[in-house]
Amino acid sequence: MFKQIIVAIDGSEHSHRALEYAKGLTEQFEAKLWLVHVFPHTSDLLGYDEYEKLIAQREGAGQGILDEARQKLGSITFDAQEELLEGPEAEAILTVAETRQADLIVMGTRGLGSLQGLLLGSVSQKVVQHASCPVMVVR
Ligand code: ATP
Ligand code: MG
Repeated sequence: MFKQIIVAIDGSEHSHRALEYAKGLTEQFEAKLWLVHVFPHTSDLLGYDEYEKLIAQREGAGQGILDEARQKLGSITFDAQEELLEGPEAEAILTVAETRQADLIVMGTRGLGSLQGLLLGSVSQKVVQHASCPVMVVR
């Protein structure tokens, strides 16, 4: 049923819980896993002196988040690949889902945002609303 599974990682506890579920499902369905992280949109600043430095910095921080997720994944028996993309977040996650023909997107209800009380963060909300495959939102 699920052959291509995407897990969206922002480095939050919620996303690490999502990773646990994604790992279990990938094992169970003998699927392939895509670890996806989106770093903040920077292209608006194209041409500014600091642009190259800024994008390298953001990419580096993003890769760090993927490395941490890879470490948390531990030993695995399946194929897990990484996708590091530039934001906006929901759009980038949806684009990977399309290009990788994902059957399932796994993500957290909330992320690093500080607004308490909301049921769903804005990224989860947009992905749930627009994805063409099932989305598992992990508490
Ligand atoms: P908001 O960002 O709206 O202030 P929030 O940070 O609490 O609120 P979201 O950003 O929607 O909530 O995070 C929910 C889930 O979306 C995260 O657990 C993670 O799975 C995914 N997600 C959020 N940001 C990113 C990102 N930059 N890259 C990859 N996945 C992300
Ligand atoms: Mg967020």
